[in-house]
Amino acid sequence: MKAYNFHSLLRLSKEISHCLKSSKTVRPLMCQRCYSSLNNKLLSARSSLVLIDNLNKSAKNKPVEKSLTNNRQLSSNKQSSFTNHQPSRTYSQQKDGYRSKVYGLVDDFSNPIDRIQSFVDKPIISEENYMFKPTEENIRSAQKLFIPGHGNKIQFLKSALMEEHLPVYDLPEIAFIGRSNVGKSSLISILLSQTDVMVRTSKSPGHTKLLNFFQIGKHFTLVDMPGYGFNMPKHYSGSVERFLASRKKVCRTFMIIDGVDGVSRHDVTCLNMLEDFQIPYVIVLTKIDKAKPATLLKSFMSALKYQQQTTHCFSQPFLVSSMSGEGIPQLQAFIGYVTGNLAVHGM
Ligand code: GDP
Repeated sequence: MKAYNFHSLLRLSKEISHCLKSSKTVRPLMCQRCYSSLNNKLLSARSSLVLIDNLNKSAKNKPVEKSLTNNRQLSSNKQSSFTNHQPSRTYSQQKDGYRSKVYGLVDDFSNPIDRIQSFVDKPIISEENYMFKPTEENIRSAQKLFIPGHGNKIQFLKSALMEEHLPVYDLPEIAFIGRSNVGKSSLISILLSQTDVMVRTSKSPGHTKLLNFFQIGKHFTLVDMPGYGFNMPKHYSGSVERFLASRKKVCRTFMIIDGVDGVSRHDVTCLNMLEDFQIPYVIVLTKIDKAKPATLLKSFMSALKYQQQTTHCFSQPFLVSSMSGEGIPQLQAFIGYVTGNLAVHGM
């Protein structure tokens, strides 16, 4: 998108709108190509306006330039322990929350469940099931786990396929499972956004063919697993199912579901598999930045419906966006809790 300034955009948009409103007189005078180009300009100007407007609203009177310069720029020559992985991150964790180029400042301490609850009168989840409520202090402690430093080396460990190639260590593991392209790698990428570790993400489904291990100091490891569904690797059951069946240190599997599409047929198969393996897991709805409140509510309710029929699924689904960072601090706190690195009151 071109770098327009706000006032010139506004003027441009008004001028083009005016022209198009009188299109009955303008259109016959223009060839189709010129007319389409004018129309495209208007669409681009409008989307830029929406973007700038969102930035202004979210930055809450802070100058936009400041938010942008505060963002962490990943330089391409940074040492990467995972070759070929593209930097996809445009956000940074600030003292007061995540800051994204597009979405502005995201509050660290509120749970996105409360945001969708505000659209409906009835409670969308019972108090009994909505049990993971970390304090601000819990969230700050959990965030520290994901910041590299002395004694907290965060690194890409290895990619593996067969059981004999899996890394050996005595750390709890968190496994990320979900359909191809649902956003598993992006989620790990934002969790590790304070580090130099690069996690490859892709627009085309099925790029993660191996199990990728990321070590978080002496605390735990995160495992990105190949996706199921479209372009599923032939070795899927040999690698993923073997991994889940054999690893004793998997303390929680994060079942990633698209927040826009809700629970799919493939997801139900995966939920059944996790139930069969009797592995404790939790549903994480991702891409919530893309879902309108009504869609997100529908996806959330569909996740709850399935959760209620299960035995090993944690009662409270998590909602996250790897683009805006919303819900990420809550998830970091949950990871801290399930790996035994964080005590949370009431749990
Ligand atoms: P994976 O195959 O499950 O590892 O999926 P990826 O992490 O590679 O993501 C697939 C696509 O979804 C990429 O184009 C990402 O940019 C996009 N994506 C992932 N998470 C989000 C999110 O939270 N919001 C939005 N808007 N897009 C996302």
